[in-house]
Amino acid sequence: MIYPWHTHAWQNVQQAKTNDHLHHALLFNGEEGCGNETFIQAVAKSLLCLKPLADGAACGHCRSCQVFMSDAHPDFMSITLLEDKQSILIEQIRELNYFLGLSRSYSLRRVVVIYPAERMNVNAANSLLKSLEEPSADTHILLLTAHSALLLPTIRSRCQRVRLPLPAPAAALDWLTQQPLQHAAAQLLQSANGRPLAALALDTTDAMSQRQQWLEHLTQYVQGQGSITSTSAHWEKFDKVQLLDWQFAWILALLKQDIEQNSVVQEVELQTLQHLLDKKRILHIYARLMELKKLATHPLNARLLLESMLTSWNSTR
Ligand SMILES: [Zn+2]
Repeated sequence: MIYPWHTHAWQNVQQAKTNDHLHHALLFNGEEGCGNETFIQAVAKSLLCLKPLADGAACGHCRSCQVFMSDAHPDFMSITLLEDKQSILIEQIRELNYFLGLSRSYSLRRVVVIYPAERMNVNAANSLLKSLEEPSADTHILLLTAHSALLLPTIRSRCQRVRLPLPAPAAALDWLTQQPLQHAAAQLLQSANGRPLAALALDTTDAMSQRQQWLEHLTQYVQGQGSITSTSAHWEKFDKVQLLDWQFAWILALLKQDIEQNSVVQEVELQTLQHLLDKKRILHIYARLMELKKLATHPLNARLLLESMLTSWNSTR
């Protein structure tokens, strides 16, 4: 299965395959929460399939497809984070190098997928480099990352880049509304910053009610009602990146409202914020929150970070 927003990248890869121009190392770069892992798995399966369909997709029936689906394809290797590990380890890449030394079984190619590629530690990345410099015949290494800047430049330069762009808002919304949902699709998509699979995941957690509560607390604070101490205490254990992402989504909604007169913000709290904050102030809040985003994953004093988030909304300078 290919998500509609991957069609263009899919066609490019399949065309390169048909013309026998497919690079031995491909670096797919796109944001998390867009189904990109599913996409590279589909690419891998299609490259291994013995009887691909007209559009290049795997047939689902041949011997290759059968063993692929039972996770036992001898010409395929998938490298990702092991349970409880923060990095892809050199031992995993050593296994890969061993795998590349074996002879092919029954597919025409051998395929390796590695994701999230930026999580290879330095030793693992250096070990992979050798395989990228001296490619094995009929072998394709597919790397997926959401943060290509974190990869070693030497890895990046040996791969052909394939960008997996964020879906167009209409396409993402169209797909999302076809899923069984408890919440409004547009609101889910907005709070996931346009990433459809992340939006779908939000629907099944209590994240949407937490998001609503955070918006209420923030609005009360801007109105001068909430206390900074109790509000910060309430949220200090919550994922700071998530809190910031929601604020960015609301800021974008407020700015959009400012530009497109017919785009109406739905939530009553956002309408309140719209009345309280002018465009200059919204841009100022955005800039301050961007500064805080750099600190959000650092083990800083959580209370201090929360207080800084809140004061960003109240500062007039
Ligand atoms: Zn097949």
